Amino acid sequence: MCRKHAVALFVDFDGTMVEIAAGPDDISVPLNLAQALEALAARMDNRLAVISGRSLLDIKRHLGAPAIARAGSHGAEMASGDGSLLGPQPLELPRKALDALAEYARKEGLRFEAKTHGGALHYRSNPERGSDALSFATDISNSYGLAIKTGKCVVEVVQKGANKGNAVRAFMQTATFAGATPIFIGDDVTDEDGFTACKELGGFGICVGNRDDTAAEYSVPNVEGVYEWLELF
Ligand SMILES: [Mg+2]
Repeated sequence: MCRKHAVALFVDFDGTMVEIAAGPDDISVPLNLAQALEALAARMDNRLAVISGRSLLDIKRHLGAPAIARAGSHGAEMASGDGSLLGPQPLELPRKALDALAEYARKEGLRFEAKTHGGALHYRSNPERGSDALSFATDISNSYGLAIKTGKCVVEVVQKGANKGNAVRAFMQTATFAGATPIFIGDDVTDEDGFTACKELGGFGICVGNRDDTAAEYSVPNVEGVYEWLELF
């Protein structure tokens, strides 16, 4: 099939498809978002994937199981539109690393989020604790040979190697996406890997909101702007 003019779309979830909330479980997902994304994917011959820092299980909890491709845990877990898993199952974090993060959060009054393949410290309610939280998470990451992901008022310890750019590259190698021009839409630091991968593959990134030093060529002001651009609702 000639894919010269076909587009593949990769979209982040929090801050892109839904407004960021005080905590990860506080988001408000528009009632028909899953349906709208599924319809968009169908119009694009399934060249649409949600790429999130949340685990696949967590995405399912908030979005249900629409027939769209998705990557969770910053690209460590991937599934195609029919729900079948792609690639190897990622490792969980060492119990001791998670316990240390949880204990730190308890002592410092931060919110700890145990994720399927990571552990996150949220400091939205005490932003002044952010740099200390980052230092602590970095120490834990170094001690256990792990990696760090930073985001808006959150720092997360994850296994090495997971990033949204690799998820884009992996999807683009599948028959569904191959040959299309990839576009990544995202709002945060971890989306930069997605922007860069799309650029390498002849596409581009769209940043939601303003970020300094972004690899995205274009921007839209907010989540509403994403809905409008995609004519989602
Ligand atoms: Mg985001």
